[in-house]
Amino acid sequence: THFGYEKISIHEKESRVKHVFEKVASNYDIMNDFMSGGLHRYWKDELLRLTGVKAMAKAVRRRQHSSSSFSSSSPSSLLDQNSKDGSHTNTNTNTLSILDVAGGTGDVAFRFIDAAECVERSKSSGKDEISVTVCDINPEMLRVGEMRARKKYGEALLHDNNNNNNNNNASSLSSSYSSSALRFVEGNAQHLPFESNSFHIYTIAFGLRNVTDVDAALRDAYRVLKPGGRYLCLEFSHVPNVPLSKLYDLYSFNVIPQLGEWVAQDRHSYQYLVESIRKFCTQEELMRRMENAGFEGVKYTNMTGGIVAIHEGWKP
Ligand code: SAM
Repeated sequence: THFGYEKISIHEKESRVKHVFEKVASNYDIMNDFMSGGLHRYWKDELLRLTGVKAMAKAVRRRQHSSSSFSSSSPSSLLDQNSKDGSHTNTNTNTLSILDVAGGTGDVAFRFIDAAECVERSKSSGKDEISVTVCDINPEMLRVGEMRARKKYGEALLHDNNNNNNNNNASSLSSSYSSSALRFVEGNAQHLPFESNSFHIYTIAFGLRNVTDVDAALRDAYRVLKPGGRYLCLEFSHVPNVPLSKLYDLYSFNVIPQLGEWVAQDRHSYQYLVESIRKFCTQEELMRRMENAGFEGVKYTNMTGGIVAIHEGWKP
């Protein structure tokens, strides 16, 4: 496999990627803003928008508060599926379960929590419409994520802390910020520590290209999703426009490693990040690999000229 442009063994890549994210964890969020000029926020907002979680959380809320049934065309149709198959891993079958893999410091997960207004809901009713699991191979990234969660939400989400181990065989970090709405779990995207058919939505943002065996990660994403569940991958991609791609290369290969050196005193890790982006598969190839893993309705949306793309697919 590859570590940037360097050819190395699979085992070696896993440990080197781990090392890179151990090193960048404490500066990760600030570097994201520096390197992308804040654009990563917009890309992640788009990911959130495409999941439709805001509308779904509202639908769940309506369901929790009324006995009337939903029409299958409502945004809650994913949940209708859930209540039929009986395999939901949360005690509340009306909860929308989301898994954010390679979730690092929690950026995407926090967007879900905020969109579903979990904090406000928890204070007033104690019920959560969604349950978000952040899973990452790197305990250091998760530790930063937990600290951010504590700072952002305090104890607001911890009302159900005694009841948070109802979610299958995953082992949360020992001192984790873990509630019924948000929890952090250490695990590898290639063999996730969750039961099959557990989640309505699986997201992975800027994580897939770091995984050693992309196809294994896609297969395991398919496994943990419920039938009818949705897969969304936000990842750096390839710029089809030649002048823009030249400009982008110039920026990535010169500015980003330099920023890494200035801001995080770590040129090498940021050099790897740039190289891993160029080495990652094209939009079309990723579509094919998703289809090979079993996903249906696969499509992608380019953003910022293809610098990043969101790939989507369904588990039939
Ligand atoms: N999703 C977060 C975001 O968008 O801010 C973090 C993205 S960061 C660029 C990549 C993350 O992938 C790191 O936290 C790293 O530890 C994680 N990662 C790398 N290989 C992984 C694997 N095999 N399984 C799970 N996570 C992995």
